[in-house]
Amino acid sequence: MLVKVTVSDNYTKLYNKVYALLRNTTPLTADCGILCERRCCKGTENKGMLLFPGENTDLEVKETGEKRLAVCEGNCSRGSRPLSCMIFPFFPVIDEQGIISVDFDYRGVSVCPLITNGDVVSFNKKFFRNLLKAGKLLAKNDKFRKFMEDVTEEINEAKELYQRISKQNRPETKNRS
Ligand code: SF4
Ligand code: SF4
Repeated sequence: MLVKVTVSDNYTKLYNKVYALLRNTTPLTADCGILCERRCCKGTENKGMLLFPGENTDLEVKETGEKRLAVCEGNCSRGSRPLSCMIFPFFPVIDEQGIISVDFDYRGVSVCPLITNGDVVSFNKKFFRNLLKAGKLLAKNDKFRKFMEDVTEEINEAKELYQRISKQNRPETKNRS
């Protein structure tokens, strides 16, 4: 099935700029899907990729509260996948001072090996530059800024939990004398 993503008229210009930055660049210069057999594309009917404001798709969309999740069967035309798919496993997070940076999307820690092996993976610098630019563009719009703040909160919660668990499971270093 080919996935078609459309955007609300109000945001066409913004999305055109953002998609242009991110459509053809990926976190690794190689296809990470080959390494993990595309784990992030193997959702269940209750899981999906979060749609950004004004983003619409002909995939099945599940709504929970204000969230809209696109649920797919693991196939799409790469050129028209949702923005969340283009940027996974990263997100342009925004801190309390309004500063935007790129961080792992720790909500996907159980799925994506790039997150758990982040310290030994060599990432594509162009992808980071473009995602940061895209994040700054999006955050100029109040609706997107609020969306990014809400997602950042969820990511930070997941990050804290992940770091706590990793710390607890780290083998104790023995003192050598
Ligand atoms: S789960 Fe991570 S490593 Fe695998 S395809 Fe998705 S982004 Fe790439
Ligand atoms: S829409 Fe495409 S990129 Fe996104 S999860 Fe589905 S198959 Fe993967």
